[in-house]
Amino acid sequence: MKVSELFKREKTVFSFEVFPPKKTSSIESVYNTLEDLCNCNPDFISVTYGAGGSAAGNKTCEIASVLKNKYNMEAAAHLTCVYSSKEDIDAELLKLKENGIENILALRGDINPDYERKYDFMYASDLVKYINEHGDFDVFGACYPEGHMEAENIIEDIKNLKIKTDAGVSHLVTQLFFDNDLFYRFRDMTEIAGINVPIEAGIMPVTNKSQIEKMVSMCGASLPSKFSKVMQKYENNPEALRDAGIAYAVDQIVDLLSNGVDGIHLYTMNNPYVARKITDAVKNLL
Ligand code: FAD
Repeated sequence: MKVSELFKREKTVFSFEVFPPKKTSSIESVYNTLEDLCNCNPDFISVTYGAGGSAAGNKTCEIASVLKNKYNMEAAAHLTCVYSSKEDIDAELLKLKENGIENILALRGDINPDYERKYDFMYASDLVKYINEHGDFDVFGACYPEGHMEAENIIEDIKNLKIKTDAGVSHLVTQLFFDNDLFYRFRDMTEIAGINVPIEAGIMPVTNKSQIEKMVSMCGASLPSKFSKVMQKYENNPEALRDAGIAYAVDQIVDLLSNGVDGIHLYTMNNPYVARKITDAVKNLL
């Protein structure tokens, strides 16, 4: 099923994101995690694509296929293009098609000086256009409520986002954020810019301190004082920090649902316990 169909229903879309196991680990090592996440019954699960990697050794398609064909869960594969030639992308699209995957989150990928860049695709919008011309996939894209880190400012970023949605994106998924007001400001700006596709809000339940430090340094999400205080209070008590992270995420989701969000995309960090707690707290509100 194409996930764009989900946005036509009354219910708010609720999806998960997982990452594949390390290159040295087997696919089977994440079967239990995938099964537990599927048992939470999200609308679909997306699978990230190894940063900086070419298709070689990348397990995204395999995991998406396990979700779809073993657990009967609608799956979406992330696909980056900054290290890929057109031939590499053709090979990935063929593999996805052969495995029955119908949904792709098309991304540029982060630029990493350790890897040799290819120039067939400059931006995610080039990949979106290419996929739409070369296959029958539902293509969606990433967006940044606080602006992408490389963009001069949020206005320029939204102008570029409009190019991406015009290239044929069926919906958008946001970068993680902890301040809902920034999301609402962004949503208003996209509307003014004529971006009319549904936007799923990306929610990251923070369950340990090093995780948040890493994430924030990578994506630049700002931390409201309410959030920082929670982190400070419980930073030396892992169990309390986990529970506080779950409570914060649930609070964010309830507020987003009350404000008519199109969808919630939960960055599960492959943690079924956390995904289950959040699902149970919000499933009757969707
Ligand atoms: P783009 O949309 O191409 O934007 C990148 C930058 O270029 C922005 O600053 C934008 O303003 C600018 N730009 C875009 N178009 C133009 C134009 N025409 N002219 C001038 N400037 C332009 N990374 C991974 O490696 N694997 C993953 O699985 C993965 N999953 C992600 C999932 C989500 C929901 C999100 C939000 C991010 C994910 N990322 C992933 C990270 C992503 O690859 C990086 O944030 C990357 O730096 C930008 O990717 P993009 O697709 O948003 O790029």
